[in-house]
Amino acid sequence: MSEEKNNAEAREGVDFIRAKIMADNASGRFGGRVHTRFPPEPNGYLHLGHAKSICLNFGVAREFNGQCNLRFDDTNPTKEEVEYVESIKEDVRWLGGDWEDREFYASSYFDKLYEYAEELIKMGKAYVDDLSADEIRAYRGTLTEPGKESPWRNRSVEENLDLFRRMKAGEFPDGSKVLRAKIDMASPNVVMRDPTIYRIRHAHHHRTGDKWCIYPMYDFTHPLSDSIEGITHSLCTLEFVNNREFYNWVLETLNVYHPEQTEFARLNLTHTILSKRKLIQLVQSGVVSGWDDPRMPTLCAMRRRGVPPEALHEFCRRIGMARSDSTVEYSLLEFCIREYLNAHTARWMAVLDPVRVIVDNFPEDGEEVFEMPLHPEDPSYGTRTVRFTREFYIERDDFRMDPPGKYHRLAPGREVRLRYAFLVTCTSAVLNEDGSVREIHCTYDPASRGGQSPDGRKVKGTIHWVSAKYGVPAKARLYDHLFAMDNPADVPEGKTFLDNVNPDSLREVDIVLEEAMKSLPVGETVQFERMGYFCKDRDSTEDLAVFNRTITLRDTWAKIASKGSM
Ligand code: ATP
Ligand code: MG
Repeated sequence: MSEEKNNAEAREGVDFIRAKIMADNASGRFGGRVHTRFPPEPNGYLHLGHAKSICLNFGVAREFNGQCNLRFDDTNPTKEEVEYVESIKEDVRWLGGDWEDREFYASSYFDKLYEYAEELIKMGKAYVDDLSADEIRAYRGTLTEPGKESPWRNRSVEENLDLFRRMKAGEFPDGSKVLRAKIDMASPNVVMRDPTIYRIRHAHHHRTGDKWCIYPMYDFTHPLSDSIEGITHSLCTLEFVNNREFYNWVLETLNVYHPEQTEFARLNLTHTILSKRKLIQLVQSGVVSGWDDPRMPTLCAMRRRGVPPEALHEFCRRIGMARSDSTVEYSLLEFCIREYLNAHTARWMAVLDPVRVIVDNFPEDGEEVFEMPLHPEDPSYGTRTVRFTREFYIERDDFRMDPPGKYHRLAPGREVRLRYAFLVTCTSAVLNEDGSVREIHCTYDPASRGGQSPDGRKVKGTIHWVSAKYGVPAKARLYDHLFAMDNPADVPEGKTFLDNVNPDSLREVDIVLEEAMKSLPVGETVQFERMGYFCKDRDSTEDLAVFNRTITLRDTWAKIASKGSM
């Protein structure tokens, strides 16, 4: 799809979900109300896939003057932790999601859900089953074969009620009984073959403590939570398509308020794993330093790496909403990050791979002071002061003993512009024994102050530099994809996705910063001229700043768009 077409579609803002909401509003279906929810399970940190869902649910609510709830889907006591609840709130807030006072928990509805379950039993629509989990699976049948009824399926209402109450009272061990909806073991939809709605788990819950030893299943909890909260549009990912029939069955059978479930394609990204279950393995195995290791696709990692939330909004706007699954190129995310940072960050000079340059005709203790703009196109950023001295650093890569054709940087006999400072001409270089460059000697043109050519002579190259006398040593972490291949979940026999980790995804280097960068606060993202965007990390100390590279400057999007692979 061309970028223009992509843009135009997104700008009109009428993907199929919004179109549906408009139609519902027009027909008065929910009385013109729009009420969505974002329902994370607190079993890990949110990732880029969740950003898509957050932007959709909170975005739709905002656009249609509606509301969006934050609901923790905390039905699984053993995997959920308070730490995750707090991180999820922080991440949703960071992305601009505002749930006001509507912070809800599925676990708050446990009493109500239990009553609903008893109601189903009384209607003859649910029964206690003694089959084991394995037996239930075996009895379920397949896509091509109908299932088989459990021998316990026709227990009387009284017996079912008695057993269910005793399940609740803790009389039975984990896994010995479940409560199942009584629907149709021959249904072509496997989900409808008497799905389990309650199971026994003698486990402590982060909110309800030890009150319960039976817990409702997600498929039963979700429609009822939506109903209790008065949700209108329950938006979920495509893997729930087959669950929609049961969603409707629960609400219809209990004859309660009925929201509508609509599915959209989940986000898949090249080079990226988007599954909390797998991300937790990266954390626990020590492949990364934590959930917010800047190589992770989590929202806290994005934030730590210096990715602004606006870039993620734009990314979500561009990927749009589709009804079938596809994989988005990671470079589209990078494009959105670059585009935002280009317009919204100050420029500084830092040398990542320093080599020393000496200006032989510059006074030994001399210095020249320059006021440099912090943004070339936006004067509102102001300026900073930079001191030029006889010795300074440039990038090792900005010098060649034998320059190839079209190399416009420094080489013996060549003149370059030092950004905002002077024109210098290389006179010689001193080499180490191994042939690497130890130091470079130059002369400068005192008439070229500010980097202007005094007589109209052409100087093609401009390079950045940092004074050796005033520059500040620091560290930079340079990142590459955590997974080099497009689809890291694609694993050969006998391997796991952990074997796909790129061993070169992190490189730490010693760098030199302009002196005034000392005062940059942690969390600030800036451009290192010509080198990329960097964010000051919380690992920085008084003496040593640490910068994470948010992203390089190189833009591959144009190439990708013209190849038509999006
Ligand atoms: P994971 O597999 O990472 O655990 P999940 O779907 O189990 O994801 P939940 O906490 O249940 O995670 O997700 C909360 C909401 O975010 C759900 O509505 C879910 O559909 C949505 N969501 C999760 N992953 C994606 C994704 N990759 N793209 C779009 N939406 C997603
Ligand atoms: Mg889930």
